[in-house]
Amino acid sequence: MKSPISVLIIEDSDNDKELLLLELRRGGYDPEYICVKTEKEMIAALDQREWELIISDYSMPKFSGFAALKIVKDRNSDIPFILVSGTIGEELAVKAMKEGASDYLMKGNLKRLIPAIDRELKDAKIRIQSKLADAALKESELRFRVLTESAPVGIFTTDASGSTDYVNPRWSEISKLSFGEALNDGWLKAVHPDDRKKLAFNWQQSTLHNSDSKAEYRFVHPDGTEAWVIGNAVKQEDKNGNLIGYIGTVTDITERKKMEAELIVAKENAEESDRLKTAFLQNISHEIRTPLNSIVGFSRIIADTELSAETFENYATIIENSSTHLMSIIDDIIQIATIESGQEKIQDKELNVNALCSQMYDRFITNAQIQNISLSYNTALNEDEAFTISDDFKLTQVLNNLIRNALKFTKCGFVSFGYQVVGSSLKFFVEDSGIGIATEMHEKIFKRFEQVESTATRKFGGSGLGLAISKSNVELLGGRIWVESEIGKGSKFYFTIPYKPTRVIKPEIIPLEHSINDLPNNLKILIVEDEKAVDIYLSLVLKSIGEEILHAQNGIEAVAICRKRPDFDLILMDIKMPEMNGYNAVREIRKFNPDVIIIAQTAYALSGDREKSIEAGCNDYITKPINRHTLHETLRRYFSV
Ligand code: ADP
Repeated sequence: MKSPISVLIIEDSDNDKELLLLELRRGGYDPEYICVKTEKEMIAALDQREWELIISDYSMPKFSGFAALKIVKDRNSDIPFILVSGTIGEELAVKAMKEGASDYLMKGNLKRLIPAIDRELKDAKIRIQSKLADAALKESELRFRVLTESAPVGIFTTDASGSTDYVNPRWSEISKLSFGEALNDGWLKAVHPDDRKKLAFNWQQSTLHNSDSKAEYRFVHPDGTEAWVIGNAVKQEDKNGNLIGYIGTVTDITERKKMEAELIVAKENAEESDRLKTAFLQNISHEIRTPLNSIVGFSRIIADTELSAETFENYATIIENSSTHLMSIIDDIIQIATIESGQEKIQDKELNVNALCSQMYDRFITNAQIQNISLSYNTALNEDEAFTISDDFKLTQVLNNLIRNALKFTKCGFVSFGYQVVGSSLKFFVEDSGIGIATEMHEKIFKRFEQVESTATRKFGGSGLGLAISKSNVELLGGRIWVESEIGKGSKFYFTIPYKPTRVIKPEIIPLEHSINDLPNNLKILIVEDEKAVDIYLSLVLKSIGEEILHAQNGIEAVAICRKRPDFDLILMDIKMPEMNGYNAVREIRKFNPDVIIIAQTAYALSGDREKSIEAGCNDYITKPINRHTLHETLRRYFSV
């Protein structure tokens, strides 16, 4: 069987062509050929198909072997080109080889033709294979580059020893190291110092044992931020199973880590919150029952037993104190709920911090004396400088709570409080020589329901809400609160509020405890109240100042009475009533009587009620249950003798 071969013969002599064909056939080939004599014919033949071999005469009347060779080379063609000549010598042979001919033969010695063709075809085959392999490699490299350059994960490659020789742009983005900085083991420099040693050791072990590697670690960026990554490196082996390097990926898992950490914190918070709520419920149940027991028990004794006036007074005081205590617990719970729903608001007005301290002193001095504790206070500003803008109610509540705690947790020694001016802030302090607080509780006690002693053996009572409310109040006022304390060495609570001096000299605020001798005794009063018990109570409290006290049970009745009687000095207006509520009644009354003093009284201890009452036309506002001292204090603002 002869091997088929396609041959382009460039020859002007038919005889020479036949000789060539003869030689080819003799050499075992079955040539399929075209014979051309001119450049034009040659180009047409080249365009027509692929040739496996070109055999060209050196010299022809209209063409030449060198011209033909040039055409082939200009086309970047690798077709074996054999030049055949009858005449020329060695010099031209060398030139032909230099210009790219595959071989050069003499017409008179065609014996070398077949071995030359065999050799050239073999070489051409190898060339084609290597060209294909090159092209495949180039394509695969291109694909790798496109993939790595645009990959959303970091990619790196190493040599067999584990030394980095390539990183993609995403790798640099994650680590903030440039390509050059990452090479060899430069990348290790960007690894967090705490992870570096372990990572380097594990990587070394992987390369030593030819194994894949996986690790979770952190990169530290030049600005100090950290990026968590998962690194995976897969070994690359040659045909014989020898390790030639690694290809690895680096995936940024910072966001995932952050979310994991947040979830852990959220879970811990939820568990903590659950624990606190359970402790709170047990605690609050005890806290509410204690005063309630006294109220129920002593009320029954008063109702059922004949008592001396003195015993009666004592029991009544116990009931009053227990009720006040109970109310303060309920107020705390309501306030915490308002704080948590984000509805707590600031109601700024001018207040005198010196007067506030004096009021606090008046409020607590009797208790302190009973406990045999020395109570004192310090003020830092002159009277005319002591006016600032803040929320009176909230500030009082914070001080009240801190001083109450100080007295509660102090057996003997002292409690002192006051303030200093620090920059543009007023820095209040409440110091005691009591039991003190362990350092690890210094922050916790400001969280709701947190108490140092939250077990069933609690000695001190309390709902665990006071400091949480104080913290929220102080922050709403624009300051911060903290404690310095050591177990057994007492505590010092601090809080700041902005100092916004008004520099207006104000008359001194009247201290809390006063006799009612400074109130008139001839007022014409209307009590608007649908609850019989409250109506009776108010009548008793107002008896000494009222020359005439009238009663209405709802808004409509109140408006009707006021129309007939324009001479009332004071109206105490309940807000929640049937038929017509207090707000509407006040609006009606104001239409014809702008002067009468109207004081709203409501059971909703919610912030915002004061504003609503004032907006409706009331002069002031007090919350139920009405403490007679608070009521007298309020009245003193409008009536004094
Ligand atoms: P309550 O006093 O109702 O328990 P607080 O929120 O006011 O709630 O206080 C939380 C806890 O902080 C208290 O239970 C107590 O353990 C601790 N604490 C507060 N003030 C003092 C103080 N002056 N001395 C010692 N411990 C205190």
